[in-house]
Amino acid sequence: MAGYQLKLKRKQQVAEGTLALYFDKPDDFSFQAGQCARLVLVDPPETDDEGNGRILSLASAPAESELMFATRIRDSAFKRVLSALTPGAEFTLKGPYGDFTLPADPARELVFITGGIGITPVRSMLLQAMAESQGRQMTLFYANRRPEDAAFLDELTQACAISSHCMLVATMTQAGQSAQHWQGERGHVDKAMLNRHLTDLARPLYYLDGPPGLVAAMKTMLVDAGVAEAQLRTEEFAGY
Ligand SMILES: Cc1cc2nc3c(=O)[nH]c(=O)nc-3n(C[C@H](O)[C@H](O)[C@H](O)COP(=O)(O)OP(=O)(O)OC[C@H]3O[C@@H](n4cnc5c(N)ncnc54)[C@H](O)[C@@H]3O)c2cc1C
Repeated sequence: MAGYQLKLKRKQQVAEGTLALYFDKPDDFSFQAGQCARLVLVDPPETDDEGNGRILSLASAPAESELMFATRIRDSAFKRVLSALTPGAEFTLKGPYGDFTLPADPARELVFITGGIGITPVRSMLLQAMAESQGRQMTLFYANRRPEDAAFLDELTQACAISSHCMLVATMTQAGQSAQHWQGERGHVDKAMLNRHLTDLARPLYYLDGPPGLVAAMKTMLVDAGVAEAQLRTEEFAGY
């Protein structure tokens, strides 16, 4: 696969230590909400054993005019180069890949459970479903340590506030260490929290994604709560 040539339009910090990268969408590139792609730096000044690219979820929705990715900045060669980039920097995009996408049935109730940077494909799916005025009911459980760490939280809170089909349950596991006063849920997503916000745990289709440890814990919790494994869709962000 030759790939698509992209030039960075702009960067934006979307949470502490979290960078969003924006690009014009190539005319011949299309993808489904929730899919990922391989974003490869062209001639970076440094590299490492993982190479010049990483698999990243498309955080933008297909209905949006730009492509956007978001990533936690850590001390790898790829992330160091990303942090220093200026507009015009060149990338190759390979993909899209993956089937962590919205189900064909537009009436199917969905529950997304994610944490941290796992929000990227969920942002894409939620905003796409809203852009298409899908009538499905969607609930997002979004866990972070503190509000400062929660990428796109304000944007998604506002989007869900004006939609009768979307409910966002944000929870903070270290709210006490935040400079902000947090009034929402606290602690990890568990069966009791799900029961406070959902009427029937057995009914929805569940989307679990993010660091592998989080996905495994949520899967075990849901199966123990009586949810059939056939109703779970998972995507692990290997590398976290
Ligand atoms: C489907 C999918 C979607 C993803 N979406 C996003 C996203 O939207 N945003 C985001 O920030 N990240 C995403 N990731 C993770 C991303 O690909 C990187 O692994 C992550 O960003 C860490 O990169 P790094 O440069 O910080 O660390 P790295 O230098 O890449 O690696 C950190 C550590 O993880 C190990 N590691 C790296 N890759 C793998 C692997 N594939 N399997 C096992 N161990 C590995 C390395 O050996 C190293 O020990 C996604 C991954 C997948 C598979």
